Amino acid sequence: MNQKSNQTSWAVGFDLGGTNLRAALVSEHGKVRARYSRNTFAERGPDAVIEEIIDLIKEVLKKGHRKVASIGVAAPGPLDPGTGVIIKSPNLKWTNVPLKKCLEDNLNIPVIVDNDSQMTAFGEKWLGAGRGANNLLCLTLGTGVGGGVIFNGHIFHGETGSAGHIGHHILDPNGPKCGCGAHGCLESYVSAPNIVRRTLDAINTNRRATLIPQYVNGDLKRLTAYHIFQAARDQDPLAMEIFEETGYYIGLTLASIIPILDPKLVIISGQVAQSGDLLLKPIRSHLDRILHLRHPVPVLQAQLGDNGGLIGAAGVAFSRLGECSSRTKGV
Ligand SMILES: [Zn+2]
Repeated sequence: MNQKSNQTSWAVGFDLGGTNLRAALVSEHGKVRARYSRNTFAERGPDAVIEEIIDLIKEVLKKGHRKVASIGVAAPGPLDPGTGVIIKSPNLKWTNVPLKKCLEDNLNIPVIVDNDSQMTAFGEKWLGAGRGANNLLCLTLGTGVGGGVIFNGHIFHGETGSAGHIGHHILDPNGPKCGCGAHGCLESYVSAPNIVRRTLDAINTNRRATLIPQYVNGDLKRLTAYHIFQAARDQDPLAMEIFEETGYYIGLTLASIIPILDPKLVIISGQVAQSGDLLLKPIRSHLDRILHLRHPVPVLQAQLGDNGGLIGAAGVAFSRLGECSSRTKGV
């Protein structure tokens, strides 16, 4: 067994989140070992957080003396995947932080930094719901709405490295204002906080009858997307309608993007995706109804849960290293 593990290559997968830092050793075959996590404490600023990241990675590297070929970091964007600079992260409050260089200078191991949603898409392609698919879309529904595009087996970055922002597909230029500054982006309807906003609008403005307040003991300030999921699971008509409408917005977005990118399948990831069929069924039915050019396109729930970014980061680190050795440009 020792002999076998000595021959296996390992990468460190790292997930740099606004709340938690998470690291693990991942083998080239996708085995995950030595998981660690710490609070990010983003308020202490980039230098302190980077010190913490280095410390956490060193802890992982110590584990088992395994041969680590490279380190992949899934980070919030916008970022430049070529230089590994975090251009601006509202979550971390970072501007122009050269993360890749800081880590490589301290750890002497090649580091790949890429967008967390793109890393999740790659993780799902490597070991999750997208196994065997060389072209796929992955939508990550959480506090924001992230997107990943796998094109011919690799992450598609576009001209400036910012491709994949499916959450900023504009559904209605006169719609609600989005965090990106535009109006009516998908994110401004289906991120977890916006699912809550639509529900509260329906309750407070439109006086819709619903049992949703019971799920928060009458205190609607505490309402989260999870409570609305619970109410929909219990057949509350308003909560079910909110999920139906969420499926419509996502289905409409996918119907616009699928004819352009021609993916084999679509994966729905992130905390809101844990609603399962309550969300997936309306997405599928609206997509099938709206899109005529190509169907059926399977819409699947992500399989890696929280670990998509972490595992994807390690997978990209392996893949990029392979590309470097074969002198192929970019990923
Ligand atoms: Zn936007």
